[in-house]
Amino acid sequence: PEQGKLVLEVEGARKEFGGLVAVNDISFKLKAGEIMGLIGPNGAGKSTTFNLITGVLPVTSGAVNFMGHQLEKLRSREIAKLGVGRTFQHVQLLPTMTVLENVAIGAHLRRNVGVVSATLHTERKSEAELLHEAAVQLERVGLGDHLYEEAGNLALGQQRILEIARALAADPVLLLLDEPAAGLRYKEKQELAKVLDQLRNEGMSILLVEHDMDFVMNLTDHLVVMDFGTKIAEGRPEEIQKNPAVLEAYLGG
Ligand code: ADP
Ligand code: MG
Repeated sequence: PEQGKLVLEVEGARKEFGGLVAVNDISFKLKAGEIMGLIGPNGAGKSTTFNLITGVLPVTSGAVNFMGHQLEKLRSREIAKLGVGRTFQHVQLLPTMTVLENVAIGAHLRRNVGVVSATLHTERKSEAELLHEAAVQLERVGLGDHLYEEAGNLALGQQRILEIARALAADPVLLLLDEPAAGLRYKEKQELAKVLDQLRNEGMSILLVEHDMDFVMNLTDHLVVMDFGTKIAEGRPEEIQKNPAVLEAYLGG
């Protein structure tokens, strides 16, 4: 999509778990070529919001529009096929397989899911092609020198970037990253920020869940702040930093 065009619109998304309102009628928009941060204290409902967008959980009510598709009506596999890539809060790699294999397998699994995709993809990709495409994505994120290392031997920061490469192998329009900087050292965070900035320059839209305020401040174009399931603030990072409700949510605890 063209720079600045609407990619994702969440409209009044709500998720209840029994009596608990984990996501309380949240709305926001994400444009092409933007990095948006979804921030808030632990338990605010950030991961649940991700799970609503990616179809991992059904919404209680509300809508999620992605490039003309109503995602709340679709299954997670269909959503992935439409171009929504994601990583999870906890690293999900095959630790004894190589970096290259991890990306190739991710791409393969995503391409060959369901009857519809199997029929549409008349020419199945050969293993050599999958490995080649995986290598291209790994070069793109700066892991080109680690193709044949065991994924489990990489530093945590590199594992997080590897997960991004695996998501990229499915050729997404929108990337959802759940706390990619959590537990990383300062230098690793800088490396990760560099990769995300580069992807944005290439036109990728990114929705980033993050707990660490400093990391999102320098990287994002737009922030949505959640607390107890509710959107409490929204705007440019430099405005958000000064917002009393946000400071209260983070410090008031
Ligand atoms: P965050 O990612 O912002 O830390 P979550 O979205 O994980 O927050 O959780 C929001 C709230 O919903 C929390 O109170 C959490 O305990 C609750 N929650 C999350 N997932 C479930 C679930 N599958 N069943 C019941 N409660 C859940
Ligand atoms: Mg979370």
